[in-house]
Amino acid sequence: RTQLDFKYETWRLLHGIGALLIAVLLLHHTVSAGRYGSQPVITWVWLAMTGVAVGSLLSVYLLVPLLQKARPWRVTSVTQLTSEQWELTVKPEGHRGFDFKAGQFVWLNVGHSPFSMKENPFSICSAPASGAEITFMIRELGDFTRTIGQVKPGTVAYLDGPYGNLSVEGRDEPGIALIAGGVGLAPLLSILRQLRLSGDARKVRVLYGNRVVDQIANRDELNADDVVYGLSEPPEAWAGETGLIDAALLDRVLSETEFSEWLFVMCGPRGMMDGVEDHLMSRGTPSHRILSERFNYD
Ligand SMILES: Cc1cc2nc3c(=O)[nH]c(=O)nc-3n(C[C@H](O)[C@H](O)[C@H](O)COP(=O)(O)OP(=O)(O)OC[C@H]3O[C@@H](n4cnc5c(N)ncnc54)[C@H](O)[C@@H]3O)c2cc1C
Repeated sequence: RTQLDFKYETWRLLHGIGALLIAVLLLHHTVSAGRYGSQPVITWVWLAMTGVAVGSLLSVYLLVPLLQKARPWRVTSVTQLTSEQWELTVKPEGHRGFDFKAGQFVWLNVGHSPFSMKENPFSICSAPASGAEITFMIRELGDFTRTIGQVKPGTVAYLDGPYGNLSVEGRDEPGIALIAGGVGLAPLLSILRQLRLSGDARKVRVLYGNRVVDQIANRDELNADDVVYGLSEPPEAWAGETGLIDAALLDRVLSETEFSEWLFVMCGPRGMMDGVEDHLMSRGTPSHRILSERFNYD
């Protein structure tokens, strides 16, 4: 652990203690001063609410990190997929890992104490059926993701999860369209890999959009499937689709039956997702057949 980690953890601890103090002092003020404390039933309400607040503080700052510490993971490989995308694989150390559904995500902490809260959400891109090792596809964006290339195999990692509802389990549509933009391929790759490994007979089509050809990840693997590649800045000799994944592209590659009967699962930039969703609805796809995961939070 670095000195910076230690400083960060101390600040975090102080933050937690501060929050705890605020909750307890507020309770004291509320039940002992003025009209709020005059009714016993109100006092019980405040006590219960403070209990919930203190319980969630203890859970976030103590319980979850302790549970994570007892179930560490190790980085087994870090591979460069494209100029800005990496594949990171972790395996459970001394435990069996966890069960997850293809398409779910976890909060990942690489190389820091579980008490540091230095974690970021990433979709799992490996299939549940492929074993206890878990793989992520990570695009360089900021402080953490730009350092992925420097992570050494053997580095400790902690995973909090799985979370999320992007899953095709239990669905009975005759076909599935997986629509990805850039690194949005990650959860869809997990779904695709799981469908293959479980011998699922449903028809699957992948629509995978990128800006330039060098951003296409896992191309050799994807070529085994029915994939439509779209590039917004194609090279001269490009035989695939050109432009963004938009209404026109969807109309070119999908049939009436597919629009009305298939399940659509998508993940990508906000603009792409909004456009695709609107167009699917306008072509008669009911909203319960459109599943999406959004990586953007602002
Ligand atoms: C459910 C979920 C699943 C995800 N799965 C993946 C995945 O499989 N692969 C992958 O590469 N990424 C995924 N992401 C996005 C990933 O979590 C962020 O790219 C990562 O946390 C950025 O961390 P950083 O420290 O590198 O960037 P920071 O230094 O924290 O951020 C750099 C800049 O980008 C902004 N920013 C960072 N993350 C986001 C974001 N998600 N939306 C909008 N602005 C942002 C920050 O405000 C800041 O301005 C997922 C996000 C969510 C919510």
